[in-house]
Amino acid sequence: MPELPEVQTIIDDLNKVILNKKIKKIDILLSKIVRGTNSSFIKILKNNSFQNISRRGKYIIISLANNRFLVIHLRMTGQIIYLQGNNLIAGGHSDKSNNFNLPNRQTHLILHFTDQSQLFYNDQRQFGFLEIINQKGLGRIENKLGIEPLSKGFTYSYFQDLLKDKKRNIKAFLLDQKYIAGLGNIYVDESLFLAHILPTRSLDSLNKKETKDLYLAIKQVLKLAIKYRGTTFNNYKDAHGRQGNFIKRLKVYGQENQKCMRCQKGVIKKIRVAGRGTRYCPECQK
Ligand SMILES: [Zn+2]
Repeated sequence: MPELPEVQTIIDDLNKVILNKKIKKIDILLSKIVRGTNSSFIKILKNNSFQNISRRGKYIIISLANNRFLVIHLRMTGQIIYLQGNNLIAGGHSDKSNNFNLPNRQTHLILHFTDQSQLFYNDQRQFGFLEIINQKGLGRIENKLGIEPLSKGFTYSYFQDLLKDKKRNIKAFLLDQKYIAGLGNIYVDESLFLAHILPTRSLDSLNKKETKDLYLAIKQVLKLAIKYRGTTFNNYKDAHGRQGNFIKRLKVYGQENQKCMRCQKGVIKKIRVAGRGTRYCPECQK
């Protein structure tokens, strides 16, 4: 599932190559992947261009001309693939098959630009969506989301205030986008591991040191994941030889039944917390 680092990686890549290109044609291959009517979606995008691409939480927000925005949410298995000649840029969900024979069965939308380049939206499970919104719609997204964990405003005292008087499970809290935006299953498990905290703990059980450690862990894990281009496309290299490398640095996620690489004593366990598969070390997380 694409989280903050994966979304940041794809928008950074696209911002370098796709801005101001004129959209010539829009193919919607799966109607429900577009929110709102397909005809108005096509009408607004045709002859339009991307002015800027930004991220809010896990949302991709593309500014168009005329004060409209194309919003894309990748949810579980969404992928964005940009193809220009032999140059391919891919981001989002990690697909083991790496089927970049495009379009394929999972392609639900294609934007064709006047310079012959194309942008594909692929989504195996079809939970993601694309939608055109205005400034008001942007405000509605903003209202649903909490702070950006890599923003200046996310200070330790802000984090302390956020936790104050809450008894909720720590993992459920960190997954909840209305408090901190952009974290998902991978980076919550990794942050809790780094902070030596069991994912089954409740917020009111954390002492001062644990709270501080968790705060620092969240920032550290996200920064490192962005540096290594997220956990996606571990087998795939783009035209510049870049690949998502963070998968090699995961300490608990996907490591169940492996010996803990930190304490060398525990075996990583997988349980269900907050409705999600959750990995932790029973030895060195307390
Ligand atoms: Zn351990």
